[in-house]
Amino acid sequence: MQQQDAFAAAIRKEDGISFVGDPYVKGFRNRIDSNIIHLYFDDGDSGGSVWMHLICGESSALLIDTGYGIGNLQAVIRQLTDLPVTVFNTHWHGDHTGGNAQFDIVYMHEYDVSYWKNAPMAPDSRLLPQALPYRKEDLVSLAESKVCTVSDGCTLDLGGRTETVIHTPGHSAGNCMVLDDKIGILFSGDAILSTPTLVIDGFPGGEHPDLLTVKAMEHSLQTHQDILNTAQWLCPSHGRLMLPAGYITAMQQCTQAILQDPDAFEIYDYIPAMPGHIRCVQDAMVVYTANRVR
Ligand SMILES: [Zn+2]
Repeated sequence: MQQQDAFAAAIRKEDGISFVGDPYVKGFRNRIDSNIIHLYFDDGDSGGSVWMHLICGESSALLIDTGYGIGNLQAVIRQLTDLPVTVFNTHWHGDHTGGNAQFDIVYMHEYDVSYWKNAPMAPDSRLLPQALPYRKEDLVSLAESKVCTVSDGCTLDLGGRTETVIHTPGHSAGNCMVLDDKIGILFSGDAILSTPTLVIDGFPGGEHPDLLTVKAMEHSLQTHQDILNTAQWLCPSHGRLMLPAGYITAMQQCTQAILQDPDAFEIYDYIPAMPGHIRCVQDAMVVYTANRVR
């Protein structure tokens, strides 16, 4: 996990776009397609730094995730584009949905809504950055967030580019990735990252608990193989961006290896509150607990 800390230190030194209305976020234009802007919320070396991604088409834009809900994300988006913006959450966890209330409607997979509604909303119990100091008045209330549901295969035409929702449960029941067809970036959320994919306990319950497993993840990667084969790069929600597409195959192999022999693991203790088992195949890493295999 030293790799993750090194990445956090490196990106802190990089020049990016700063935002007049929000001191917490730094923007980086994608080097292949400048109409994609990656928005970084820096939580120091805590491991909790998170990316949001803005994809601009010819007629509208898509914002993937809303971070922790600290600062004025609306001001960030308005500085970048005048296009109407649709917001989509890759999953319900508080580091991806905290700023939802700043937008009229946010889309989320139908299976994650019950978990999101059960999550603690009070400032002293919701998921917040561990390392970053922030002004209490910049914390966005969760109370008025509205969600609409989507399901696997939904598409959004942004004008000149189409985004497709790919349901890949495991990290959460309604966890989704989003594939951009123009340059083949898979916005992989917390499902496939340069850091471990977490398939562990520690969150409130909800519907479809059978999908909170390595088995569900393996099955979804297999059933979506054709569309996933069209991805060229991965831009996850944490850690390094523009990962090669080989991460997808490695993740398939990693989940299969866990199912074949769940006891062949090493101990993972990077997050002391969430100890687990780690399994690595090439660049793919999954952290899991015995009750979340099948
Ligand atoms: Zn996350």
